Amino acid sequence: MMTAKLNEVPLLVVGAGVMGVGIAQVAAQAGHTVMLYDAREGAASEAKTQLAKSLDALVTKGKLTAQGVTQTLSRIEAIASLDAAAAARLVVEAVVEQLDVKRRLFTQLEAIVAADCVLASNTSSISITAIANGLQHPGRLVGMHFFNPVPLMKLIEVVSGLQTDPAVAAAIFDLSKVWGKVPVHARSTPGFIVNRIARPFYAETLALLQEQAATPAMLDACLRGAGFRMGACELMDLIGHDTNFSVTSAVYEANFYDKRFAPSRVQRELVDGGLLGRKSGRGFYDYAVASVKAANTAFEPTPLPAAQALCVWGVGPVAERLATALAQAGRAFVRDENSDWVGLAVDGAQLRLTDGRPASQLGAEVAVFDLPLSKGVGIALAWAPSSRASDGWCAAAAAWLQALGFSPQRMADAPALVLARTVAMLINEAADAVQQGVCTPQGADAAMKLGVNYPSGPFEWLAQWDARTVVRWLDALDAHYRGERYRVSPWLRQRAWQEGVQ
Ligand code: NAD
Repeated sequence: MMTAKLNEVPLLVVGAGVMGVGIAQVAAQAGHTVMLYDAREGAASEAKTQLAKSLDALVTKGKLTAQGVTQTLSRIEAIASLDAAAAARLVVEAVVEQLDVKRRLFTQLEAIVAADCVLASNTSSISITAIANGLQHPGRLVGMHFFNPVPLMKLIEVVSGLQTDPAVAAAIFDLSKVWGKVPVHARSTPGFIVNRIARPFYAETLALLQEQAATPAMLDACLRGAGFRMGACELMDLIGHDTNFSVTSAVYEANFYDKRFAPSRVQRELVDGGLLGRKSGRGFYDYAVASVKAANTAFEPTPLPAAQALCVWGVGPVAERLATALAQAGRAFVRDENSDWVGLAVDGAQLRLTDGRPASQLGAEVAVFDLPLSKGVGIALAWAPSSRASDGWCAAAAAWLQALGFSPQRMADAPALVLARTVAMLINEAADAVQQGVCTPQGADAAMKLGVNYPSGPFEWLAQWDARTVVRWLDALDAHYRGERYRVSPWLRQRAWQEGVQ
């Protein structure tokens, strides 16, 4: 098979929908001549006209030059029949997400294009191995998974099926870089990298909603506080609950109904009720009302509350943050760095960084607070008191968190609160993906940051909080809920053992 270089080869894009047009644009901007074909008559030329309008708008805004746009458009030709595509050396398919349609299309294409023409599919969920089944040259079929909007999103998952020729995957990888993208190799497994690792971001929020532990606005505020661009509820409202639910269901089914991937009744109910999110006017939030925002977390700094005896327990960044705040306020305190918990003791009552266990399991005058993932001042942070805590300690715990620079969000006493559980599960899923050869740790980090704009990659978080801590959170979740959902990835447990835990 050829594939040495695909840099300037003539390209055929099949499917002139949202993705196909974006792919045609990016390829033409990189200098390829592009044939654009769609099964619906007239769709390809309509799409080109539409593209011309949106590129002209970018010229008006000063983001593109008129000359550049003319050149780009001159390279794109809408074709009315696939027979006109014999000269293509690379095909990128972006038609409807149906296995039989894609298979039929590639079979048809094999009769038209040369034997060394690379065939790429932009499928977001169908197995590349399955699409290749039945082709004369299955080795030339590869996944080239773009993200929407194509011209803006940097990530491309280069997906190899069982029969994909490594040279073909390498050629698409190199071409993606020439197109200004960041390619990441992935093995064809359900959800590839991004759609697989991202599942817990939604699932943990949905689980907390199902058990009535917090409101959508609170959960969104906490996730935003950690640096996610959007909370899970507002993001699901934007994606559309029908779409999100069907991706979740597809990943669940493809994993033979592994309970870890089980969809949520909360989301199912929204779908059944037609509350699909922004596009239907209502999902978790009602878009008919003037402003839809995460919980009000306007932050007002307050002085540290009065106390007789203060002790900062444990080591690490949170203990340091507490000690620094007390020292800056001129408060006397002792430190105990040998403790097995991190937090602040206030006259014997405990304000503890979550170790995964609920506060009620730890004692009476205890409150647990969530992992402060960002150093920002005034960020929303979940916390929960023990069910046996006095009203006095509940009020004092919130006041301490506020004085320490957080916007405290009181939730029910659920294990690992919001961020610790979400991050732990993202890391856990990424660890499984690496163990199963889906991607490398670096690939997972790049994919999650560029494909879904996470503030850090899962392995970057792992480096920050170490595997022992993450395993402790997961084991606490597993002990609390039982079942398959929170089982620790073997890769992660091995990593924790390497760090010295039995
Ligand atoms: P779309 O519905 O906007 O466009 C699909 C186009 O394909 C339509 O114009 C349709 O007429 C055409 N088509 C259908 N069958 C055809 C055939 N046999 N031959 C030629 N044209 C045919 O869909 P989209 O959102 O652009 O998605 C296309 C593909 O990209 C799907 O596989 C989807 O899973 C994948 N994808 C979508 C997104 C996204 O966010 N929309 C992101 C990544 C990947």
